[in-house]
Amino acid sequence: MEKRTLDEFKERCKAFGLKITPQRIAIYQEILNSSNHPSAEAIYRNIREAHPNISFDTVNRTLLTLAEMGFIQVVEGSGDVRRFDSNAEPHHHLRCNQCGAIIDFYNRKYDQLEIPKEIQGKFSVNKIRVVLEGICSSCQENLKE
Ligand SMILES: [Zn+2]
Ligand SMILES: [Zn+2]
Repeated sequence: MEKRTLDEFKERCKAFGLKITPQRIAIYQEILNSSNHPSAEAIYRNIREAHPNISFDTVNRTLLTLAEMGFIQVVEGSGDVRRFDSNAEPHHHLRCNQCGAIIDFYNRKYDQLEIPKEIQGKFSVNKIRVVLEGICSSCQENLKE
């Protein structure tokens, strides 16, 4: 992790009254390095070796805390395991129905989708995320074989 990112993380933890522990730093680092919207389970598997004393529960709770603090996001679920997103930029998702991959994409038009009239005034929208479901390119390759 870049020193600047780490410093910023520590600053914000302090501001939120969150204790900075090597485990929390490791968890944050792990999700920052991942681009595949990992589950708590995947993060846990990856850091267990370097931090044998860490429990799944700690990983899960820390991820939820980081999400509450706005460091990461929880990917809107469809009933499956909760997944986390370290990409704080406005973006959209491609979700593969075959392998469960979640891939980021950017689209100005989607960012600025017009809120339907019947929703305006009733519901205060603060984030727009478009999810396109389908089959990713590597699954398409596999299907061909
Ligand atoms: Zn796939
Ligand atoms: Zn994402």
